[in-house]
Amino acid sequence: MRITIIGAGFAGSVLATELARIAPTGVDLCLVGNADGFGRGVAYGEARPEHLLNVRAREMGATADQPAEFARWLNLTRRAEDSFLPRLVYGEYLYSRLQSAAQVSLAGFSQVQQEAVAVEREGDAFRVLLADGADFLTDRVVLAGGAAAAAGAGGGPGGGGASARGCWWTRPTSPGRGRRTCAARTRWRGYRRRPGCW
Ligand SMILES: Cc1cc2nc3c(=O)[nH]c(=O)nc-3n(C[C@H](O)[C@H](O)[C@H](O)COP(=O)(O)OP(=O)(O)OC[C@H]3O[C@@H](n4cnc5c(N)ncnc54)[C@H](O)[C@@H]3O)c2cc1C
Repeated sequence: MRITIIGAGFAGSVLATELARIAPTGVDLCLVGNADGFGRGVAYGEARPEHLLNVRAREMGATADQPAEFARWLNLTRRAEDSFLPRLVYGEYLYSRLQSAAQVSLAGFSQVQQEAVAVEREGDAFRVLLADGADFLTDRVVLAGGAAAAAGAGGGPGGGGASARGCWWTRPTSPGRGRRTCAARTRWRGYRRRPGCW
């Protein structure tokens, strides 16, 4: 099984981290993202040092079941846990946990710092085309391009039918946070729409 996540921001890198932790041998994971802010995203990769998180450190764990993980990663005192830390630091936390998971993963795990310019249906698989002209096949695609891409896509929570086609859309800031959203009826900026895909 080949799984490709397009977009290496918050959603893409956290999903890649979780999959790297649980995927068995034989699974090939690929995280594709723009070089700017790879593994960190727009909010946490491109900020200035004085730009702070709007949530206290003790609640900023990347996954809901581990809210204190970020504070623990920094070894913060109780008092410091209650502060609002730089967004850049949070980006380093996301990147660090991604790399840690990649190192111990049983699955194959490649990280590609390129823009994806198209996803095309090819039989039961998908061909992902990159800005540098390279391309590769994958069985599943997760689109995690962030709010700007999602705003242009028009997809919303509750869509159905995409699992059979293998395209999934992540949109962590939407009211349906955590739910997978059908990509079958969306248009994603930068992606060519092809019959049989979306
Ligand atoms: C300025 C700002 C500050 C914020 N501060 C906070 C905060 O303090 N606390 C908080 O909880 N939330 C905050 N947020 C919200 C936070 O950004 C989101 O919750 C979350 O980071 C969104 O994750 P995402 O993966 O959907 O998007 P992003 O993190 O933006 O990641 C999307 C990534 O996909 C890449 N991408 C897009 N298209 C392609 C393509 N075709 N090929 C390859 N890569 C592509 C983009 O370059 C980007 O790196 C903030 C948001 C912004 C904009």
